[in-house]
Amino acid sequence: MVTKAEWEVIKASHKYKCVICGKTEKAVGVLEKAHIRASSRGGSQVLPMCPTHHKMYDSDKLSAVQLKKIGLTKKSSARLSPKKKRNKGEYIFGVRVG
Ligand SMILES: [Zn+2]
Repeated sequence: MVTKAEWEVIKASHKYKCVICGKTEKAVGVLEKAHIRASSRGGSQVLPMCPTHHKMYDSDKLSAVQLKKIGLTKKSSARLSPKKKRNKGEYIFGVRVG
């Protein structure tokens, strides 16, 4: 879980923008906490996304290009996939959580 203070830090480190489309919190109204599974990095990460892209992420509809922006590949974003082998440089995040 991310506390309110941590969430503010996360958003600030992404300049209050959706990590996918770059729209600001002001523009989209609210940024939502997108939970990114990065087991190879020891847990999950939380990234700010606009409601549109958060929904797309959760329903696995982001394109490979969009996923790349958050350091994921189509494969690694598969939520139910078993633990996969660590690929060097696969997970690149602007922020570390926890
Ligand atoms: Zn967006």
